[in-house]
Amino acid sequence: MKKITLALLAMLAVACSSDSSEMNEDMENSAPSITSQQFQVAEHVPPGTVIGMIAASDSNGDELTYSITSNENVLINESNGELSIGEGLILDFETANSLNFTVSVFDGNTISDADITLNITDINEFDALNNVQKELVAHFKHLTLFQDPTSPTQTVMRKWSEPMKLYVIGNLPDGLQNSVEEVIANYNMLTASGSFTISLVDTESESTAQLFYGTKQETESVFPDMYDQIKDLTVSGYAIGSFEGNSYKSAKIWVSSQTAALFTHEMGHALGLGHSNLCDGDSPSVMCSSISSSNMLLDIENNVIKFFYHEDMPTGLNVSQIEQSLSNLILLE
Ligand SMILES: [Zn+2]
Repeated sequence: MKKITLALLAMLAVACSSDSSEMNEDMENSAPSITSQQFQVAEHVPPGTVIGMIAASDSNGDELTYSITSNENVLINESNGELSIGEGLILDFETANSLNFTVSVFDGNTISDADITLNITDINEFDALNNVQKELVAHFKHLTLFQDPTSPTQTVMRKWSEPMKLYVIGNLPDGLQNSVEEVIANYNMLTASGSFTISLVDTESESTAQLFYGTKQETESVFPDMYDQIKDLTVSGYAIGSFEGNSYKSAKIWVSSQTAALFTHEMGHALGLGHSNLCDGDSPSVMCSSISSSNMLLDIENNVIKFFYHEDMPTGLNVSQIEQSLSNLILLE
């Protein structure tokens, strides 16, 4: 009996001393300290831009390791807590003016978390563009607001919000038929980032646009409303449209020659583009008021059409709204 009691006491004593030493260790380590923090960065800054340093401390002086678990597009230097912009991060004030994520800090024993807010500040997007991009904005305004002196200017731009379904009245010569299909395919390629398309349809009843090939005199019976406008003009093609709000609902296109250039030009009008002012030099635009069969859409005009029919480009914008919306879309490219 005596022996067993001694053994039990000894075990208790061991257990006691073990408990108290563990408690001492716990008291020595305290969790790292980090509180909610706010940072600020301008929209559209490039990847790699430094946002700031996370403030955290540890009363034991342990080395701290930083991490972000809630947003893989914000980067953190795991040894010093420096925040920076990751590759995939799009900062657009007009879409969201703040971004929230959680930073964790680990002292080798315990993790502490804090909510971080990144406030995104607005910039003047146009000022952030380079000269080539600013030229694109200027030419976009020129074409979509009909700023060329050869036609009356518009205060707002107008475009199609629905697909264009084009019906050919009568027959096209084989050469023009091929050109029309190629020109439509090219416009569809340029507008591919949005929902707008041009397609040829077999019946007039399902169409939203009509194309007629013939002489000016013949338009009198086919498009009488167009003929009224052109009877005293010297023109080889023409396009008129009707719109509701600032969206085109219908168009009528007439061409009197088989050149792809003329159909490209008149289809450009039907889509909402005015005349180009890029008409000098070796490669004048097909949207100039006077063209030859070798004229084509210029690269800058392909870009104008791409942004004009971009899914995020609204219709009905005035000159200052165009500058803001287009500059933003260019920076988001
Ligand atoms: Zn024209």
